Amino acid sequence: MGDPGPATGRRLELRLRFAADLGVFLARENRTGEVRAPWDGESTLGHVVESLGVPLPEVGLLAIGGRAVPPSCRPTPGAVVEVRAAGRPQRLPADRFILDVHLGALARRMRLVGLDTFYGNDLEDDLLINLANAQRRVLLTRDRGLLKRRKLWLGGYVRGDRPDDQLADVVDRFAPALAPWTRCPACNGPLERVPKNAVEHLLQPGTRRTYQDFARCADCGHVYWRGAHSAHLSQIVARATSAVADPRHLADRRG
Ligand SMILES: [Zn+2]
Repeated sequence: MGDPGPATGRRLELRLRFAADLGVFLARENRTGEVRAPWDGESTLGHVVESLGVPLPEVGLLAIGGRAVPPSCRPTPGAVVEVRAAGRPQRLPADRFILDVHLGALARRMRLVGLDTFYGNDLEDDLLINLANAQRRVLLTRDRGLLKRRKLWLGGYVRGDRPDDQLADVVDRFAPALAPWTRCPACNGPLERVPKNAVEHLLQPGTRRTYQDFARCADCGHVYWRGAHSAHLSQIVARATSAVADPRHLADRRG
């Protein structure tokens, strides 16, 4: 009879307690209470967490017995692991973002409130990740697979199906500094105020009669006039601005 292998006769497992906020990533049967995950004794804790569906960028802290442990650790079998969600607001080195190809409507809204947002509707995943890393932009996506890519330096999952809800989620999560009406929704370039007579020749007669405040994108040349933004867009700006002014966020900024 040979020597039994290390795993023979006993089933290794880890016990994981996920924060309620991470439930969206878990299989339905794992959403309540403790998850008992089979473990090969070799995989890192980070690997086990991701194999259950939770991308590591969404995890704020892993802890065993109240002590923080890194995703690279290999716990003792049977350990109880606490998995906390990324904190809100989550501070960023810089409020710079890049969005995956499915988030075009969110990109326009983010630019509308002045967030530096790179977006292209034809960028492949590898290029997205390379750009995010090179330009130190947070990659926002609803693709969990993309967030699990090892070489991605920083990413975030966007919650919500509607672009307005997605913007609210981004603002709530990162509490970025907003500067409404300073960035071109079409191309992300900076908007410059221009006197009416500089753009008059580009305007329809009705517009020329009705509006006085104009801005032009320094990059693509597109001309904007404030009054043309629908009430809906003004609402988006107002809602995002008041969310960032939330006392919870201000207190954190002071701290
Ligand atoms: Zn532009």
